[in-house]
Amino acid sequence: MNTYEKNWDANSKISNDAAGWAKYRKDMLSAFPAYYNESSDPLVSAINKAVKAVDHLRPEAEGPAYLGKNPELTIDFDHVKHISMPEKMGSTDKVIQETVALFEGLPNWGHPLTMCNVIPQANTVSIVAAVLSEIFAPNILEGEYSWNVHRAELESAGMLGNLFGWNPENTGCLYTYGGSGCWTYHVKYALSRVLRDSRQKGVRTDAKVICSHQAHYTMLNSTDWMGLGMDNIIKVRTDTHTNAMDLVHLEEILKDCHEKDIPVASVVCTMGTTDANAFDPVEGVRKLLDKYPNNGEKYGKALLYCDAVVGWAWAAFKEYDFTTNPLQFSKEIIPSLIANEKALSGIQFADAVGVDFHKVGWSPYASSCFVYKNSEEFENLLKRPGSAYLQPRSPYNPLDYTLEVSRAATGSLAGWATMKYFGYEGFQAIMGGILEDQNFLRNVLASHTETVCVNAEDHGLVTLFRAYPDGIIAEEQYRKELTDPSYKDQLIQNNMLTKAIGDKLYHWFREGKQVNGQYTPYISFSTGFRVTEYNEADTDPDAYIFALKIFPMNVHITPEIMRHAIDCVLLARDEVLSEK
Ligand SMILES: *Cc1c(COP(=O)(O)O)cnc(C)c1O
Repeated sequence: MNTYEKNWDANSKISNDAAGWAKYRKDMLSAFPAYYNESSDPLVSAINKAVKAVDHLRPEAEGPAYLGKNPELTIDFDHVKHISMPEKMGSTDKVIQETVALFEGLPNWGHPLTMCNVIPQANTVSIVAAVLSEIFAPNILEGEYSWNVHRAELESAGMLGNLFGWNPENTGCLYTYGGSGCWTYHVKYALSRVLRDSRQKGVRTDAKVICSHQAHYTMLNSTDWMGLGMDNIIKVRTDTHTNAMDLVHLEEILKDCHEKDIPVASVVCTMGTTDANAFDPVEGVRKLLDKYPNNGEKYGKALLYCDAVVGWAWAAFKEYDFTTNPLQFSKEIIPSLIANEKALSGIQFADAVGVDFHKVGWSPYASSCFVYKNSEEFENLLKRPGSAYLQPRSPYNPLDYTLEVSRAATGSLAGWATMKYFGYEGFQAIMGGILEDQNFLRNVLASHTETVCVNAEDHGLVTLFRAYPDGIIAEEQYRKELTDPSYKDQLIQNNMLTKAIGDKLYHWFREGKQVNGQYTPYISFSTGFRVTEYNEADTDPDAYIFALKIFPMNVHITPEIMRHAIDCVLLARDEVLSEK
């Protein structure tokens, strides 16, 4: 034994017995997961405890639509930041309890009374897959640190490529931080392709990103953060009835850019806007892009991106036989299924698509997937030299071209597991089932003279409607408010009523009010579902249609709940009117 070894030996004796750090370290043995198969794995027992606590968070079967017992927001915002890390080490049990307590009052996304937005309850296999990723921490920046887990991302590319009618072998995909991340990836792809030296020299040319007035506001995030600048967005008019991009206007814009030699970075087709479920005409956009190409001497070819984060899953109906109707959907919803499937088939003409599994994919956050048709082009275009400390142990090493460095496998595993579990028919059944609920809801709305559905022509998963005072024929009143400027005062008054009903219902949900022996639903409203017909140019901020909103995303929702929701809406209306 040399001197160093002797000292070490002596030190470790002391430390093992007495040193403060070593005591803590010994405690930590019970605060980290076992690395081997141990009957008393601290992780397993901690998860067991947390699972029991989760059961406590859930209400009784007929309980309110939030978790736990206390619906209040209990944060003291004036003092919340007066906190430091504790001096001493805590106990795992206590911190787990405190963590569970944070969930008190959170909306319960799987509750049959929850129908506020495109927020699904995640399915069990996707949750388990995501949790496994948290336990074992694969890192899909490269093969060595993710080993066989990176198959989830590669197979996702194959399954989604097939779904979109692309060659799956050439399809690539990257799970990223949201539909906004997908939008940002597309801007980067487009700029790298069109402004050929922008990766080295920076973005020095005002290339244009073209999307419709209905496109998601994340257009601002992406163009801003990519350094292109928000002023380089050009917005295309939309049709007042379908809300889809107007190809005549797009042609004017593209022709103008072409004549002035202004490069177009990309055209974005939104496939399913959040509320109106509008789909832009991808094939028509492709034809126009071919007709007015960028000047090939100076610029690369413009990209066609589909922001399909909301609408992508309708593509699952491409395999559906609408004639034999094997899943026996009712005949009232078949035209909607056909319309959505047809709109989605346009994706075959896109270069890249954004997919959110945490929206219409019933998976946990964040499981967004940026999918591109030509993996070779994308991956070479964005390639960087590899890292000195990471060796390629697999042919798949996305760190060479991704925005992120460390890449959690959570999203990949959640999306992949959901596709494996649902399959085509699972997606068809869950989406068609929502339309069945909605069909019922729309019939309930039609059965009351004082309510009117304002998006009856949409085929999406959301129903928007207005409720008027008793004695008013909603259908007629709404038609006048929508079309006749002399009804603007009444429009504004009834917009205020709509908002007041929405707010009242929100308070009832939070207060745990009951109606007919049942808790009230958690619904929502929009203060700008659409412009009136005389405000097409969007110049009058008052000539907007407000609407109450029901988004019945989860599988626990039933037709009876839809009827109850409308009973509550009418009661809330009565109370609002009586308070005047
Ligand atoms: C939600 C949404 C986004 C943003 O997606 P996140 O996953 O919330 O980041 C982008 N586009 C559309 C059409 C959306 O509905």
